[in-house]
Parts: sequence; structure tokens; C-alpha cells
Amino acid sequence: MQNFAIAIHGGAGTIVKEDMTPALEKAYLKGLEDALNAGYAVLDQGGTAVNAVKAAIVVLEDNLLFNAGRGSVFTKKGVQEMDAAIMDGKTTAAGAVAGVRNVRNPIELAEEVMINSNHVFLSGKGANDFAIKQGVKLEPDEFFFSQFRYDQWKQLRDSDNYSLDHTHQGLEELMQDKKFGTVGAVACDINGNIAAATSTGGMTNKKYGRIGDSPIIGAGTFANNATCAISCTGHGEPFIRAVAAHRVSSLMEFKNLSLEEAMHETVHKKLMEMEGEGGMIGIDANANVSMQFNSAGMYRGMRNSKGEISMNIYKESE
Ligand code: ASP
Repeated sequence: MQNFAIAIHGGAGTIVKEDMTPALEKAYLKGLEDALNAGYAVLDQGGTAVNAVKAAIVVLEDNLLFNAGRGSVFTKKGVQEMDAAIMDGKTTAAGAVAGVRNVRNPIELAEEVMINSNHVFLSGKGANDFAIKQGVKLEPDEFFFSQFRYDQWKQLRDSDNYSLDHTHQGLEELMQDKKFGTVGAVACDINGNIAAATSTGGMTNKKYGRIGDSPIIGAGTFANNATCAISCTGHGEPFIRAVAAHRVSSLMEFKNLSLEEAMHETVHKKLMEMEGEGGMIGIDANANVSMQFNSAGMYRGMRNSKGEISMNIYKESE
């Protein structure tokens, strides 16, 4: 029987044990576990990799702890603008949205774009109009409000700074209740098809309609059965310039590197040279999983049909 597996991330950045309370750590691990189980259940019932990554992402988008969907960070203007992408490695069909508002689960809208739009990438008001036309679930602004995100944004709103939602050195009071994390999932199903999905609120205090790597096919999200499915998290600009997710695929295709080697080269060499803090999760069509990051931590987890399951936050040595 073909092995199947799913891996997820909930963001990477300056995530260290000293800043975490036991209760918060437990809540993150539970959030990861719930999402892993939702995605795994789809695979276990013979469902597709696309449906598995979507199921996992919906759970993470609905969890206020993570910077996606409901828990999205505030922009410079004090609103949430969300980005998401999904890609099917079997067909290389892809769908993505950027700068959408009030969409409860942006990953569902990305999938609608993939299946029903004849396009790959929709943005802003047009993407919201498409959401209404397709009957994708919308929620009022209050649904996306959380005091923590608001306080986090207040620290930055009078400046030109923007930040990775995970990086708050010096903001002591926020450390106690630190919530962050773009979310992503990759999966390999029982038929050896793979898929990737990523969803995010982007970076706190972003402006001018800034879009990161997450919804950009090839940068933050990519899937091709012939090589790998990848979902990235971190400082989006260097990930875009490195075309990070597609780079892993290219290293496998043209240099015959394994998934592990290709991700290592990209995360620990290429992105480091470009000061690209963050990480990525990847899977191949044999259900091999790799999760790598060059930051202090990355919320992550995996589960496979061999019975392996793990959820982690910090570097292995911590
Ligand atoms: N990569 C995302 C962005 O730049 C942020 C993150 O991963 O937290 O929008």
C-alpha cells in the first residue's frame, strides 16, 4: 500500500521557550494536533491530498492563535487583509487570493479560484466579489478582532515598521500572550498525489496592499507530483526573491537532490544569504516529510500512515 502523510506549520520566527507559558504552549500544540487530525482523517478515508490540506488549514484559520483567517494581524489601516494559496501536485492546478477581507476561510476561496474561475490569482475587491458570487462564507469585522492583535498593531501603527507576527523582542507585555503564525499544510494521499496550501494575515502593520510570499505560486506555495509540495513561512520578501518553494522543486528536478537536501540548501544556504528568516514544510510522492527552519522556532507537526506523529515548536535541541 502507498504510504500517506500530512505535515503542517503554524508560522516560524523568534519563538523561544523562555517566552512561552505552559498553558500557551499546550494551546499551540493542541491547535496543531487538531489540524493534523482533521487533515489526516481525510487521507485515512481515502480522500485527496487537496482535501486534506484544505481541512487542516480551515482548522488553523478558525483558531485565533494563528495569523490566518480569524486570527489575522492588523494592517497599517487597522483592518485584516488575508492571503491564501492552494496547489494540486497531480494536475499543477493552482488557486490563490490576496488582500481579501471578511472571508472566514481564505483557503476555501483559493480553492474556488483553482476550480471555478479559469484564473490562478485574484486580489482585493475582485477576489471579494468572487467570494460573494461563489457563496464563500463571510464574517463581519468583529469576528476577526482580537485584543492581542490590536495591541500588537498599536505598538507599530505610528511607525513605518512592519513585523513578522512572531518577532516581538522587547515588547515584554506581549510576550506573555504571544500569538502568531502563518499556517501551511502539505499532504500525500493514498494514490501518491501531493498538494500544498498556505494561508496568512501577512505582516503586522503592512501597508500599500503589501503581499508576501504565501499566496504566490512558486514563492510560498508549490506542488508537483514529480518533485514535492512545499508551504513556506517567514519574512515574505526574501522568500519571493528566492522563489523559495519552486527552488526546492527545481533542485530536486534538475540536480537530483532529495527533498531533505533541496530544502536544506534553500532554507539554510540560499535564504540565509538573503537574510530570509523562516522555514518551510515539504512532502514528496512517497510521503517523505521534511520540516526545516533557520529561525529560533517553527510551529509544526506531521502524521503518517506508518503511525508516526509529532508536534514541535522549538529547535530539536531545546
Ligand atoms: N510569509 C508571510 C508573509 O510574508 C508571513 C509569515 O510567514 O508569517 O506574508
